Amino acid sequence: MTDFSQRLKLVQQQIADAEAQANRAPQSVQLLAVSKTKPIPDIEAFYQLGQRAFGENYVQEGVEKAQTLAHLNITWHFIGPLQSNKTKAVAEHFHWLHTVDRLKIAQRLSEQRPSHLPPLNVLIQINVSQEASKAGVALNDVDTLADQISALPNLQLRGLMCIPAQQDAIALKQDFKAMQQSFHGLQSRYSQVDTLSMGMSGDLSLAVECGSTLVRIGTALFGAREGRANG
Ligand SMILES: *Cc1c(COP(=O)(O)O)cnc(C)c1O
Repeated sequence: MTDFSQRLKLVQQQIADAEAQANRAPQSVQLLAVSKTKPIPDIEAFYQLGQRAFGENYVQEGVEKAQTLAHLNITWHFIGPLQSNKTKAVAEHFHWLHTVDRLKIAQRLSEQRPSHLPPLNVLIQINVSQEASKAGVALNDVDTLADQISALPNLQLRGLMCIPAQQDAIALKQDFKAMQQSFHGLQSRYSQVDTLSMGMSGDLSLAVECGSTLVRIGTALFGAREGRANG
């Protein structure tokens, strides 16, 4: 618990320092605590410390946690790859989805979003480092998909997300800058777009320097993950 408290303060301080260094307003960057593979008591501990936004990568695990913790005021973000046969659970149990990269998934989510819930907030995932095997759309295709998503009644397009390749700092900064430019273009076309999901434990400061509005932090808060290879 005190460990968690110290780590949370450290990450919050890192974000505050990066905001100041980039001449950005305090609190302009949101912290998403990535709790994938971590047990429910860990989430409750961070909740007790004031953290409200949590990210999950696996549908079944995320749904179980959201159901168990339904009495808490948590905003749940789905940040993992999503297959079309699992869209319903995400539409029913999450507030945000960061990984939309094709129309079919978006259409299913809009159809399956329960009518008593507000629209599902979605981000378009960009394959910013242009890796052959990676999820996400090319930067050139953002506008087309954004227009299609905007026409869907039960989704609210809020911005862009990326997971850059493992690469040197110069290449990483180029990717983050390309994201920032694309994000500004999208903002000029859609007034509700306000979220650039970019930066993890290892590259938080550079992401904030390049305009990130939401950093996804797992390891630096919860400690190292075991088990799952892609965890
Ligand atoms: C696991 C994961 C994170 C958190 O990564 P850390 O390096 O542990 O901070 C962020 N974003 C996505 C999409 C992830 O899958």
